[in-house]
Amino acid sequence: MSQPAPSERLQQVLARIDAAARAAGRPRPRLLAVSKLQPAEAVAALAAAGQLAFGENYVQEGAAKRQALDPALDAPLEWHLIGHLQSNKAALAARTFHWVHSIDRRSVVDALAARRNPDAPPLNVLLQVNVEGEAGKAGCRPDEVAALAAAVAAQPRLALRGLMAIPVPHPDPEDRRPAFRAMKQLFDELAARHPAVDTLSMGMSDDFAVAIAEGATLVRIGTALFGPRPPR
Ligand SMILES: *Cc1c(COP(=O)(O)O)cnc(C)c1O
Repeated sequence: MSQPAPSERLQQVLARIDAAARAAGRPRPRLLAVSKLQPAEAVAALAAAGQLAFGENYVQEGAAKRQALDPALDAPLEWHLIGHLQSNKAALAARTFHWVHSIDRRSVVDALAARRNPDAPPLNVLLQVNVEGEAGKAGCRPDEVAALAAAVAAQPRLALRGLMAIPVPHPDPEDRRPAFRAMKQLFDELAARHPAVDTLSMGMSDDFAVAIAEGATLVRIGTALFGPRPPR
């Protein structure tokens, strides 16, 4: 049997997102299609089906895909960096992406602000939170969010839009619910202080229904849209 067409997969995922939002009585979140390790042709196929926002984990891979695709498309795509950002990639990241979800320390705030082209719109920024305090994991501590948010808000080249998290991948997505709930609380506190904050990025292929129930406004979905990823 052949795989379902990209447009079919997209419609299925959108229908599942819609159903989860309705069941929870929440607004429907945005879909970010996570295209890491997928070829540019797979992105083009999904874009042709109407999906316009894509997430990449690696700065160079994202830049190469954007360069390959932008000239061939009528409408430009919206590119999000969702993987860890090293300061030495800040210049390319600031040129390539419209959003960065993985801001977790002051040095990348300063590096991105310094490198964002003043003629481009401000770079949309989410703070990544290590909400369960996992050792060795990316993300700032919950008690660091306020200061990091203030640092972003002080940068005219950056636009503070919200928070992102990747909970511990407990096999049962139900066990990820407390982390999503804690994120929603942090998000509400942040939004009360920063009126432009409107984005809570959480939920992936196997747990987005739980994330939506807990208040995600953007879900990041790869496998359910593209099928399994090729190895890196
Ligand atoms: C890969 C990745 C995703 C998508 O994961 P799937 O399980 O394929 O949906 C979402 N967010 C981040 C940060 C990722 O690295």
